[in-house]
Amino acid sequence: MKIGCPTEIKPQEFRVGVTPNAAHEAVQHGHEMLIQAGAGTGAGFTDEDYIAAGARIIETAEEVYASADMIVKVKEPQAAERKMLREGQVLFAYLHLAPDPEQTKDLMASGATCIAYETVTDSRGGLPLLAPMSEVAGRLAPQSGAWALQKANGGSGVLLGGVPGVRPANVVIVGGGVVGTAAARVAAGMGANVTVLDRSIPRLSYLDDVFMGRLTTQYSDQHSLATLLPRADMVIGAVLIPGAAAPKLISREQLSLMQPGSVLVDVAIDQGGCFEKSKATTHQDPIYDVDGIIHYCVANMPGAVARTSTIALGNATMPFMLALADKGWQKACADDPHLLDGLNVHAGKLTYYAVGRALGIDV
Ligand code: NAD
Repeated sequence: MKIGCPTEIKPQEFRVGVTPNAAHEAVQHGHEMLIQAGAGTGAGFTDEDYIAAGARIIETAEEVYASADMIVKVKEPQAAERKMLREGQVLFAYLHLAPDPEQTKDLMASGATCIAYETVTDSRGGLPLLAPMSEVAGRLAPQSGAWALQKANGGSGVLLGGVPGVRPANVVIVGGGVVGTAAARVAAGMGANVTVLDRSIPRLSYLDDVFMGRLTTQYSDQHSLATLLPRADMVIGAVLIPGAAAPKLISREQLSLMQPGSVLVDVAIDQGGCFEKSKATTHQDPIYDVDGIIHYCVANMPGAVARTSTIALGNATMPFMLALADKGWQKACADDPHLLDGLNVHAGKLTYYAVGRALGIDV
């Protein structure tokens, strides 16, 4: 099969859909790998890296789309890219169709078979192609919050780990899933005093077992959170209610409970955010102040570390990409119900129920 990987064109997207390692693996499986010139630059991979892996460098996106049987990329295809998709072609990428009727309409009109990273599942009920990005965002959250706490950035001037004789920062993490656990690991590693709140008792037991006294767990309710706020230097929002907008856990009024210059890092901003005054920001302009509290709400945190994110995503997508290329999408999906869960659009029809329900389209 000819597998094509175009350069990402969404603003501020530096990742690439196929790493040189994954390209090498595909070539070993007998496939032809077509990489657009410069596609890996943002993630630190040169065209020579891909050539050494056995891939062919193709000058333009048009040529990649015209020749490839399957397109593997990171972000949903932009309007110009959607025009290049064709009937019978397979698209494997993040799509996030539920809030995007225009993209959904275009993908249906293209006749292509579109498999979305974000709806591929695993045997434990997880989302294996979303988890690596949650790992990245979780690990970045205390790091970004620590930067925002610095005086020059409007913060209170508290150092996360403290120093001998001076207390460390108090970090409260709301939501102890993939993001929350990764954030807890880094915050505790930086020497902060960490409390994690969740509504899942099994999740709290897991954290309690794994961190062995290095953090405090607490059941998440309004009262617990309100009592923690006056002493919290940083609150990291990491909740997820699958298929729903994030619940608003800190109101504007409650900001007055916090010390001036304290920081809220809203990782759940891509689901609408879990603090009342959260609004999406960018890496260029990541923070803003509401009533003296610094908000950090970057919607694509993994983009800040495009190289790590690309490799983590590539490790997770590679086995699925190879299965799709080796067997063809029909057999690959018939053999693996978790990959079949990724199928969102096929031959002009929407095939994913939750997207159909969100957009009012028959599935
Ligand atoms: P997850 O499902 O692994 O974890 C979510 C946790 O939130 C679960 O343990 C759940 O029990 C808990 N929860 C739900 N309601 C709660 C409440 N009221 N109080 C406390 N805990 C509650 O999800 P995840 O992979 O950790 O993702 C968390 C959020 O981060 C999601 O919104 C995800 O989209 C977002 N995310 C954002 C970025 C970014 O760049 N901003 C990147 C990756 C993930």
